[in-house]
Formats: sequence, C-alpha cells, structure tokens
Amino acid sequence: MDKREKNPDDFVLIGAGIMSTTLGVMIKKLMPDATITIYELHDKIADESSNPWNNAGTGHSAFCELNYTPEQIDGTIKIDKALEIASDFEISKQFWAYLRTQNYFSKNDSFINRVPHMSFVWGDKNISFLRRRHLAMTNFALFEDMKYSENFDDIASWVPIMMKNRSRNEKTAATWMEIGTDVNYGILTKGMMNYLTSCSSVNLYLKHRVDDLSKDKTGNWKIIVKDLLTGESRIVYSKFVFLGAGGGAFPLLQKSGILESKGYGGFPVSGMFLRCKNKDIVNEHFAKVYGKAAEGSPPMSMPHLDLRIIDGEKSLLFGPYAGISGKFLKRGSHWDLPKSFRLHNIYPMLAAGWHNLSLINYLIDQALQSRKSRFKTLQIYFPEAKIEDWELYTAGQRVQIMKKDKKEGGVLKLGTEIISSSDKSLAAILGASPGASTSVSAMLEVLKQSFPEKMSSKEWIGTLKEMIPSYGKSLINDAGLCKEIRNKTTHELNL
Ligand SMILES: Cc1cc2nc3c(=O)[nH]c(=O)nc-3n(C[C@H](O)[C@H](O)[C@H](O)COP(=O)(O)OP(=O)(O)OC[C@H]3O[C@@H](n4cnc5c(N)ncnc54)[C@H](O)[C@@H]3O)c2cc1C
Repeated sequence: MDKREKNPDDFVLIGAGIMSTTLGVMIKKLMPDATITIYELHDKIADESSNPWNNAGTGHSAFCELNYTPEQIDGTIKIDKALEIASDFEISKQFWAYLRTQNYFSKNDSFINRVPHMSFVWGDKNISFLRRRHLAMTNFALFEDMKYSENFDDIASWVPIMMKNRSRNEKTAATWMEIGTDVNYGILTKGMMNYLTSCSSVNLYLKHRVDDLSKDKTGNWKIIVKDLLTGESRIVYSKFVFLGAGGGAFPLLQKSGILESKGYGGFPVSGMFLRCKNKDIVNEHFAKVYGKAAEGSPPMSMPHLDLRIIDGEKSLLFGPYAGISGKFLKRGSHWDLPKSFRLHNIYPMLAAGWHNLSLINYLIDQALQSRKSRFKTLQIYFPEAKIEDWELYTAGQRVQIMKKDKKEGGVLKLGTEIISSSDKSLAAILGASPGASTSVSAMLEVLKQSFPEKMSSKEWIGTLKEMIPSYGKSLINDAGLCKEIRNKTTHELNL
C-alpha cells in the first residue's frame, strides 16, 4: 500500500468557489482536526461563477423574482418556493454575519449592500397576478414589508429612469422591498478561503485540475489531479469528496461512477448582460428590478435592470440574455456537452427537451438576437435608454440539469440539486438558481446527507447555532423570530 493510501485526506473539495469554501468553513468549525485539500483549476479563487462579474449578485430572497411564485390553474399564487428561498437567504445572512463578527473580512470588504428589490409588470393580466402575489406573500413576516403600487408617481419615486418618457396611461404595477441586497460572492469566497488557508490542516492547490476519481479497494476515493504548471499528474486519496466545481461538477459526477449520477444530463446556457457606460444614468437608479420572464424562457432568464455594487463602485446591468454554447465552464471546451452524453442520459435529455420545446425555441431566438433587438427589450424597462450608452458582455455559464423521470421520461430540474452517494462518501452540487444566495442552506444539506448522526448530535447542533442562531427553527412560521433575526443581521451586516 502506498504511503498516501494509508494517509488519505479527510476531505477533498474540488473547486474554489463559494460552495466549497462555505462547506470548508463549516467542516473546520464542526471537525477542527479534519484535514482538507482543495484543488482549483484556475490560478485564482472565485474565478468562475462566484466571480462578481460572472453572476448577477442578487441576494435571492424571492422578494421580487416572479418565477418563484407561479400562478396555479385555479388562479391562486403558489408561494412555497418563495418562502423557502427567503428563509434560506436569512440563514445565509446569519452565517455571513457570524463570519463578519469573527473578522473573516477586512473592514473595507463590503460584500453585501442594501439595494431595494422591485417587481415591475405591465398589462391587466400581469397586474392582477402581482396584486394577488403581494396579498399572498404579505401574510408572512418574511415579506410583510413589501409595498405594492399601481400609481405612476409612487413607481416613479422608486425608479425614476424607468418612468421618464413613459405614458401615464400605460398600466403598470410594482412591488418594492427596501431590504433587498446586492452581494459580491467573490469577496465572501475569498474571505472564507483566507480563513481556511490559515488553518494548518488545510491545503489549497491552484492550477490543479481534477481529471478523474474512483473508489479504491480500501473504500477511499482515488483522485487523479493534474498540476497544470508542470503538466504532471498525481494520485491523491480522500475519505470524502465534495464536487464543488460549478459547471465542472457534472462531468466529475459522471466520472465518479456512483449509481446516483445515472439518468442526469446537463445543458449549458451562457448569460450575457448589457452594461451601462454612462455614469450619470448609473447614479440615477438604485434598485434591482425584475420583470416577468418571456413565455417559455428558463427562470434564470428573467430580465432584470440591476444595480450592482462591486468593490465600492456602482454599475447598471440589464439582462441576462441567454446564449447557446457547449461549454460547462466559461473557459471550458465546446466538447463538454457532447462528451457528457451517456446511454443512460440521452433519452431523459431528449424527453426533457421534447416537454420543453418552448425553452428550446427561446434559446434559439435568444442566440439569434441582434444588438438592436436586445436593446429593444431594455427599452421596455428604460424607455429613454440610448444604444451608445450600453455594451454587451458575457457573464458565467450555467448548466441546466435534466433528470430521468418515470412518467415523462426526462424533466428539467430547476434550482439547486444536491446528489450524495449511498455510502455518504461523496456529494455534488449541480444547478444554478438560487445558487450562491442559498449556499449556506445547500451546504448544511450536504452535511445532513453525509453525516446524518453527527448533525443530530448535541455538539454539532451547538456549533451550528453559534454560526446560525435560528438553526433548527422555522423563520417561515415564527414571525417573532424572523423579525428578531432579520434585525440582528441587518445591524451586523451594516445594511
Ligand atoms: C449569469 C449568472 C448569473 C447568476 N446570478 C446569480 C445571482 O444573482 N444570485 C445568486 O445567488 N447566484 C447567481 N448565480 C449562481 C451563482 O453564481 C452560482 O450558484 C455559484 O457561484 C456557484 O458556486 P460554486 O462554488 O458551485 O461554483 P464556481 O464559483 O463556478 O466555482 C467552481 C470552481 O471549480 C473549478 N473547477 C471546475 N472544474 C474543476 C476541476 N475539474 N478541477 C478543479 N477545479 C475545477 C472552477 O474553476 C471554479 O473556480 C448566477 C450564475 C450565473 C452563471
């Protein structure tokens, strides 16, 4: 037996984005002696989807993203998903507030800023939807501060540039949540990684690509890692592997060969935004404004006029516009998609496509859009926009997950999907939305699926409550607790 086989790491985390670093911090708090090795393909951390320019920076709390509250056939609005996401975001804020109070970030690192969230719709049907949505949601403390208006002047006071040069006769409505946020997930990732690399039992290897993994005869994971600087490959061993490789997690999951990976397919969708170059306009807008997604479009394509605050500087984005590409990572290969086809996932992928033809039409339509037609969509939100003030840029890749389904053959899996091996030695995170916002709940779920007994032990629960004071309690049903926790994090995060 080789020496490394005898001394496997306790944990190998693949990818240095927000998911691996969040899990890494939790592991260190719960199991201080655990050895962790992190492998990252790029020469920097938070360089793929967690980089602030590769995502939209929304602290998804489902305040105003209309895709989380679908209308039912009977006309009622289903808000369960929105409640879950809002409560998960409050959990993330508690964890981040804990990191802030533990000095994980330098004083000038402002990773979360208050930027109000707004839904904006037009036309009788959409206005009626928004009114009923508001009524249903404000029954819960998580949403009770949400304002609703159909009044032109109210809306103009919230988003002046959107109402300039718009007819007063046009029927519009909006909801407004003052406590919305913009988050720089890159700073969060870096802060957590700084802490991790300060621990003696954590090693980070940049420019190291994990190429393959399989179980060895002792039950540990045998992982093939290539050092991209020297070109040399080596074998390392670990008791537990987390595939936190963003778009790269799906092919690694396939390589792991675990039974639970069968029947999954992934389809990459790239995201593009228009970015405003005119600082005067940027300074006139202070909200993240969500509209209703076009018929057939995937939820992640909901158009939004988005105020971002990155490294203290404001910018204004509009999008995303979807693009078709074969790459699972922004700097991946066009062969990523064809290489992921397997006998067990071709039929589920075709079936999911067949049941979602409107999505395919939408993607083709988006890919063929001209600069002018992209710009026309922006003018629906901002009528006075001038084409010369905006430039197009490409953000990150998302991998839309499809899964085998008994009834339909294959279905689209919206949201984030955690997959664990039956022997609890591997976990992977797939999917994107609500993504980084709910990374804390997602990583708690990874721990729950991988260490069920320890997660119900007094010791772990105590540590988890230190990091997340509401841990184990419902912020959906306990209005008093929800308000108390929100006030605390608002104060600690300086919102
Ligand atoms: C256009 C767009 C907009 C988004 N908007 C939002 C938003 O507004 N709010 C929100 O909460 N979320 C948003 N998201 C989702 C969010 O960005 C992701 O959910 C989150 O960043 C994923 O973090 P991660 O750590 O899993 O992946 P990443 O940050 O992508 O990190 C994975 C890392 O793994 C590395 N890697 C990949 N393969 C390998 C390998 N084989 N070996 C070693 N390393 C590897 C990559 O280089 C990368 O650094 C958006 C995403 C996109 C693309």
